[in-house]
Amino acid sequence: MSRRSKAILLALFFGGFGIHKFYLNKPLHGILYLLFFWTYIPTIIALVEVLYYLTMSDKKFDKNIMAKVCKKCAKGGEKVYTKITRRSLSLIVHTCPKCSKRVMVNRKT
Ligand SMILES: [Zn+2]
Repeated sequence: MSRRSKAILLALFFGGFGIHKFYLNKPLHGILYLLFFWTYIPTIIALVEVLYYLTMSDKKFDKNIMAKVCKKCAKGGEKVYTKITRRSLSLIVHTCPKCSKRVMVNRKT
């Protein structure tokens, strides 16, 4: 099963609790969903996300929806951000959602 299908199932059944967000390596979003699950707003957002995930390919999903993690935390082909070696104008600080390590990365990667 692709990561996209897994995320769709999680969002369908546990979307109101933000479980799919934890799966996508976006724990901060997940916590927000958990805090507001009683309003049913996260449930509605999760259903919209399901529709959105359904429209994209697995490849596009991995690229655009999965949060990137550092090399150490990547298991099972998760997207890895690459540390920049040359200074450029498009630098951002990326925090690994799993280990909270901060690394300067290129905006495009
Ligand atoms: Zn990490």
